[in-house]
Amino acid sequence: MSKIKVAILGATGAVGQRFVQLLENHPWFEVSALTGSDRSVGQTYAEACHWFLPGQIPEYAREMTIVPSKPGFEAKLAFSALPSNQAKEIEPGFAQTGYAVCSNASAHRMWDDVPLLIPEVNPDHTALSAVQRQKRGWKGFIVTNPNCTSTGLTIALRALHDAFTLKRAFVVSMQALSGAGYPGVASLDILDNVIPYIPGEEDKVETEPQKMLGTLSGDKIDFLPAQISAHTNRVAVTDGHMVCASVEFAQPTTPEAASSALAGFKAPEIVASLPTAPETVIQVADAPDRPQPRRDRDVGKGMTTIVGRVRLDPLFHIKFVNFSHNTIRGAAGGAILNGELLVAQGLI
Ligand code: NAP
Repeated sequence: MSKIKVAILGATGAVGQRFVQLLENHPWFEVSALTGSDRSVGQTYAEACHWFLPGQIPEYAREMTIVPSKPGFEAKLAFSALPSNQAKEIEPGFAQTGYAVCSNASAHRMWDDVPLLIPEVNPDHTALSAVQRQKRGWKGFIVTNPNCTSTGLTIALRALHDAFTLKRAFVVSMQALSGAGYPGVASLDILDNVIPYIPGEEDKVETEPQKMLGTLSGDKIDFLPAQISAHTNRVAVTDGHMVCASVEFAQPTTPEAASSALAGFKAPEIVASLPTAPETVIQVADAPDRPQPRRDRDVGKGMTTIVGRVRLDPLFHIKFVNFSHNTIRGAAGGAILNGELLVAQGLI
């Protein structure tokens, strides 16, 4: 099969660089265009990009010329790593003219007719892409992936909700610096420090899981009526978001039963065979001091969600620590998996 041409919108940023890295030698996708802001357009990728990931810029991308973030180049799929304000203006233009857009931005996540997608959690929600096309008269469509903190948390909540029915959750995050993009938080603000405020983040973590764990009903999603309260904090870690969660269910459970539901969670068959799908969706850590960002961020090439310290909670039912790589599982890797699912479902 010939490869599907894909573009990366916002290819020079923290998430854009992950796309460039993860799409090197992808079995189904071939990068045909890299876009940036006016700052970068016309330069080669190597000139425009301050590469901060380990290793070198992949050879295929080095000499590609950055083009404007406007439809016109040959690609079926546009992976978007645009900031939300720019995504709001730019992504609908791509969808209208026939591209499938897999977006990382928050701009369209909560639109009624836009799937907010994690393939292991709610693969059926892609049916909204047809609703979107019909309602808006677009030739293409937008699919979004969730906020990087919502991602790993929702994967664990899916496994637990399926087994015990989620009622309420209280969560506290410790989020990595790469989550703020590049160059992100000034070093003098974050070294020897914790910042207990990430603008807009708590609302996303409180509402996005309700949509993803909701039920597709005709042309809309009925949100899961479970309540989530979130505190979000920025910490001096490069990659990987940790979330401490206390959770209450309709059916009280034990740590052993919760651990077994988490460890036994499997992706639907159509998802498990996708090239970017992790072999293990959720790994339950046995050691009492895991997960840890430095030691666990690369499990499953950054696509596995790690859960540890599953124990009884005196206020809720169960508490645990959840960990997920923010720019891989929570951004570029998640969006690539979404694109692969769309191909497998025949939507691209
Ligand atoms: P970033 O490091 O600030 O990168 C932003 C990118 O967008 C750069 O490539 C920049 O290009 C480009 N850009 C900026 N203004 C533009 C414009 N007017 N037109 C076209 N391109 C423009 O941000 P990021 O962390 O990669 O985040 C990208 C998106 O993913 C955001 O919506 C963010 O909320 C979301 N997200 C991020 C993470 C994460 O862990 N970082 C996780 C999930 C979701 P130039 O370099 O050419 O200016």
